Amino acid sequence: MSHQHKQAKHYTLRELGLSSDRLDRHAIQITERLVKAGFQAYLVGGCVRDSLLGMHPKDFDVSTNAEPEEIQALFKNCRLIGRRFRLAHIHFGRHIIEVATFRGPHLKHDSNKSHAHKDGRLLRDNVYGTLEEDAWRRDFTINALYLDAQKLTVIDYVGGIDDHQQRSIKLMGEPATRFKEDPVRLLRAVRFKAKLNFQIEADTEAPMREMAPLLKDIPSARLYDEVLKLFLNKQANQIFSDLRHYGLFEALFPQTELCLQKAKTEQPLGLIQQAMQNTESRLNNGQHITPYFLLATLLWEPVRRLTEKNRSSFSSETQAIHAAAHEVIAHQVSRVAIPRRITTPMREVWALQPRFHKQVGVRCLRFLEHPRFRAAYDFMLLRAQYGEVDQKLADWWTHIQTLESAEQKSMTRPNQFKNKGKPRNKTNKSTPPSS
Ligand code: ATP
Ligand code: MG
Repeated sequence: MSHQHKQAKHYTLRELGLSSDRLDRHAIQITERLVKAGFQAYLVGGCVRDSLLGMHPKDFDVSTNAEPEEIQALFKNCRLIGRRFRLAHIHFGRHIIEVATFRGPHLKHDSNKSHAHKDGRLLRDNVYGTLEEDAWRRDFTINALYLDAQKLTVIDYVGGIDDHQQRSIKLMGEPATRFKEDPVRLLRAVRFKAKLNFQIEADTEAPMREMAPLLKDIPSARLYDEVLKLFLNKQANQIFSDLRHYGLFEALFPQTELCLQKAKTEQPLGLIQQAMQNTESRLNNGQHITPYFLLATLLWEPVRRLTEKNRSSFSSETQAIHAAAHEVIAHQVSRVAIPRRITTPMREVWALQPRFHKQVGVRCLRFLEHPRFRAAYDFMLLRAQYGEVDQKLADWWTHIQTLESAEQKSMTRPNQFKNKGKPRNKTNKSTPPSS
C-alpha cells in the first residue's frame, strides 16, 4: 500500500485524555504476560477507538506477534478457533478476549495462504506479518490504533488519531479496492458513522453507492450477523436511512426496498421507522429486544402486498399470509440467512393479524392466551398507527386486556356490537333482539 512505511506516531494516554482504568483488566493482564514472554502485545481496534471517545467498548481485542500455538502455551484458559483466520480466545468465565497474531499483506503469488477472488474479494488472508503490516490491513484508520498498556502509549502508523480528532471515518489505501476486497466494510462504515457520530471521509464515501451491489457476493450467514449489528442498537433509524441513501439497504432487503420505492404513501416507511424507534427506546430503558419483531416489520410490506395480490386464490386471509410469508422469506434468506428460530415467530406474528378482526366468541378469548399474542398485538398497534388497522379496533384490544375474565367474556358475546349505542336499560331488555 502506498502510504506504508510512514513513521509511526506515539501518543501518551495522558495527552489523549485516556485514563488506563477505563481499560479491561483481563486484556491488560494478557498483554503483560505476552510482553514478559518476550512478545509484542497491544490492545487494538474497537476498544481503543471507543475508549478514546469515553465510550464503553463492547469487547477488547489484543494483537501480538506471538503465533497461535505460542499464545496457547502461555495461557491455560486459551482455545484456538477460526475458519477464516486462526485466533486465540482467552476465557475469563463468560468473558472472552480475542488475541490475534499480526497479519500481513496478502501475497498475490502465494496462493496457499492468501487468495483473492477474480472480482478482488479476499477469500482468505492468513499470512502473519509485522505490527506495521497489521495496521495497514485493517479497515478504517480509527480502527488501526494500538494501545501499549505497559508504556501507556498509543501507536499510530496510519493517521488514525488525526482522523479520530476530525471525527472522520477513512479507509486506508484506495477505497474502491478496499471495498472490493471486503464489501462488508460498506456496512461497517455506515454503522460506525452512526455509532460514533462521525462523518465518512469524502474519498471513502465516493464509491460507496457504486460498490453496494457487491454485497450480493457475501455469504448470507455473515450478512445476517451484520444485519443484527446494524439494527439492534440505539442508532437503528439513522443506520436504516443511511443504508438506503447508499443503496445498501436494497442489497440486504431487496423486496422491502422495492416496496418502499413503489409505495404511494409514506405509511410503509413510517411503520419501519416507528419499529426502529421503539427498538431504540426499549434499549434506552434497558428492556429486552428480539430480532424477530424488527425483522417482521422490515419484511411486512412485501408480505402484505403479496397477500393482497394472491388473496383470491386462498380460502382464508391467514392462508394467504402464510403463503406470502413463505415466498418472501425464501427470497430473503438467500440474501440474509435469517435462521429458522427467527423466521418461525415472524411468520406467527404475521399470520395472527387477521385474528384481531374477530371480536366474538371463545376463540377470541383464547387468542388472548396465545403465547405470541403480545408480539402480534404490538405489531397490530404499529399497523393501526399507520392506518392499516382501524384505531377503534386496536383500542378494543387494548381495553379487553385490562379486564377481568367475566368482563372479557361479556365483551366478546355475539350480540355486543348489535347493542352498541343503545342504552342497556330495562326497557331495552324487554324488547326482543332484532336478529
Ligand atoms: P465493534 O466491536 O464495536 O463492532 P470493532 O472495530 O471492534 O467494532 P470488530 O468486528 O470487533 O469491530 O473488529 C475488530 C477490528 O478488526 C476492527 O477494529 C478492525 O481493525 C479489524 N476489522 C474488523 N473487520 C474488518 C474488515 N472487514 N476489514 C478489515 N479490518 C477489519
Ligand atoms: Mg470489537
